[in-house]
Amino acid sequence: MNGVCSAIVAPLLSWYDQGHRDLPWRAQPTPYRVWISEIMLQQTRVEAVRGYFERWMQSLPDVHALAAADEAVYMKLWEGLGYYSRVRNLHRAAVEVCEKYGGELPADYGHLLALPGIGDYTAGAIASIAFGFPVPAVDGNVLRVAARLDNDFTPITDPKYKKLTRERFAAIMPTDRPGDFNQSLMELGATTCLPNGAPLCSDCPVQHLCLGYHHGNAIQLPVRAAKKMRRTENRTVLLIRYGTLIGIRRRPDSGLLAGLWELPALEGALSPDAVRQALGVRGWQMEKLLSLHPAKHIFTHVEWRMTGYYVELAEPPAELTFVTPSALREEYALPSAFRPFLTVLEDEE
Ligand code: SF4
Repeated sequence: MNGVCSAIVAPLLSWYDQGHRDLPWRAQPTPYRVWISEIMLQQTRVEAVRGYFERWMQSLPDVHALAAADEAVYMKLWEGLGYYSRVRNLHRAAVEVCEKYGGELPADYGHLLALPGIGDYTAGAIASIAFGFPVPAVDGNVLRVAARLDNDFTPITDPKYKKLTRERFAAIMPTDRPGDFNQSLMELGATTCLPNGAPLCSDCPVQHLCLGYHHGNAIQLPVRAAKKMRRTENRTVLLIRYGTLIGIRRRPDSGLLAGLWELPALEGALSPDAVRQALGVRGWQMEKLLSLHPAKHIFTHVEWRMTGYYVELAEPPAELTFVTPSALREEYALPSAFRPFLTVLEDEE
């Protein structure tokens, strides 16, 4: 029994060969497809990514197409995936790849790592899966597997632990199948060595080498440093109508959901009278005000608790952009936080 050591390579590869999930990006693992899929998969479940990936590849099939795309196009393709800085970085990196490398992602780990939005995990995934370089790709899944294999109680959130784990995997990477080895670890973390105390050790191809399992600690591992508390913000979201149109506005270019469209909102959980007053101060003449179901949305560092109102205005205020419901659905990137308030529009369709 050894934990992370060269003895895990053969059983993991043979287990991977016997069957793994059929994922759209595994067919034709070109550098571009691996890159887009890995960025989409950060913080997002595989099942949720499938549809996004296929739509993206139909609209933006290569680096040139992404570099030339309008912001509205790639933001719309990303709508609902969250963490919108990721898609902005994809576009910035595509422009850089066209300028510096003629539209082909560089076959070099260091050059990949230097591109916007590409960290050591993504650079490792592209370099190993698409180019066949023996470099590890260590993300949260792989850190969890490593902590259990080694029976190691160091918090996996500690950057030093991550660095050490990368070095240990780098030392055992098989030079003939590095991409498959990295994918076998990802597959093990996603299907067998599951998070939240639920590893399926009896199905595991490296159980005989797993120190966490043999010490009876697999369920307690990995250890994470305590998370910072998430703050709560109360907001009052307004679904503003002028005739059949909906009033939206752009968020500031920095901060949470930077540059995306939103339903207008007021600070605090306001009563109907307080909303009337706040809109009256702005000179917005209201014809109708109805309460909507409240909703909440959780971001990494903040939770929005949202009170909602449906508001009909007599005149469209200049500070809002008015669009049809179908244009809002098809052309504007609206974060999923606002979607619960759009369900009332379904009755109109
Ligand atoms: Fe994970 Fe269990 Fe396999 Fe150890 S034996 S690597 S804890 S699934």
